[in-house]
Amino acid sequence: MNLVESFRQEVIDTHVHPIQSLTSAESLIKEMDRAKVTKAVLLALDLDPNVLDTNLTLRDEIVYDFLSYSLFIDPYQLLDAMKTILRVGNTSNAQVADIVQQYPNRFIGFGSVNPSKDSKYVKVKLEEISDLDLKGIKLIPTLQFFNPRKNKNLKTIFKFANNLSLPILIHLGKDPGPWEIHTLQCVKRGHPKFWAKIIKKFSKNKIIFAHLGGYGNTEDESWLNEVLELSKKNTNIYLDTSAVPYDLEIPSVVKSIRETCGFEKVLFGTDTPVVMGTSMEHSRYVIENNSILTEDEKRLIFSENAKKIFQIE
Ligand SMILES: [Zn+2]
Repeated sequence: MNLVESFRQEVIDTHVHPIQSLTSAESLIKEMDRAKVTKAVLLALDLDPNVLDTNLTLRDEIVYDFLSYSLFIDPYQLLDAMKTILRVGNTSNAQVADIVQQYPNRFIGFGSVNPSKDSKYVKVKLEEISDLDLKGIKLIPTLQFFNPRKNKNLKTIFKFANNLSLPILIHLGKDPGPWEIHTLQCVKRGHPKFWAKIIKKFSKNKIIFAHLGGYGNTEDESWLNEVLELSKKNTNIYLDTSAVPYDLEIPSVVKSIRETCGFEKVLFGTDTPVVMGTSMEHSRYVIENNSILTEDEKRLIFSENAKKIFQIE
C-alpha cells in the first residue's frame, strides 16, 4: 500500500443528518462503507415543527416576505411545505446519542439547541447535550428562525460550548424548498456577517461554518469571501465542504482559501442524506479527484483537521 492509499483509508465526514424518515444508522453505515468513510459526525437539529402555528408574528413576517418575492405564489402552500420540512428534519439529541452509543467507532454526535426558545429551555437542552456526552453543537438560523446579532441565548450557548470545548457548527446560506426564497428574513440572516460580533467576543470557541460560507441572494452568489474575511481576524473559524464540494474545483476559490485561513481549516462534509442527486461516495470522489488541491491539502480536508478538532487518536 502506498502513502496515498493509506491516507485515503481515513476519511471523516463532518456533516451528516440522521433524519429518521430518510435514513437509519444501518443505511448510513452502508453508505459510509461504500464511500470508504471511516467516521461521521451526526447532527441533531432542534427544530420546532409547530412554530409557524404558535408564533403568529413570525408567520405574518414570512407571508409578507413570500409576497414581496412574488404576488403569484401561494404563501400558505409554502408555509405548509415549511412545516413539513421542520417536522421531518427535527432530530433530537437523544436520537443522535442513541446511534453513537450503538456504533461508537463510526459516529461522533453533535447536539442541537434552538436559540429561539426561552432561556430556561436553552439551559435544559444544554444540560442534555452534556449529559448525553455529545461532542459539539449545531445551530441553524434558517430553520430555527433566530437572528444571530440579536439573540440573547447565544451568549449562554457559546459560554457553555467554550467550557466544554465543544465546536459549534453553524449553517450558513439558504436551505432547500421555501428557504430558497431570498426575501425571507431567516435566509438573509444566513449571511456570515451576522456572526461577526459574537465570534469576536468568544474567540476561543471553535466555529465551523457549513457549506464553505453558503449561498446568498442570487443564483451564484457565494458568501465564501465574507467568511474568509472573518477568518482573517478570527483564527478559530473552520469551514466544511458539505453540499458544495465542486467549489474547490474553482481555482480562485482554492487560491483565496490558501491565502486566508488555509486548508488547515477546511473539513470534509457531505450533508448526507439531504442533498438530492448526490451521495457521500460522490462527494468524496469529487474531492479525491480534484486536480487543483495538493495531496497534503486533501489529507488535511479528509481527516487530519477533523482529528484535531474532535481529538480523535
Ligand atoms: Zn446540513
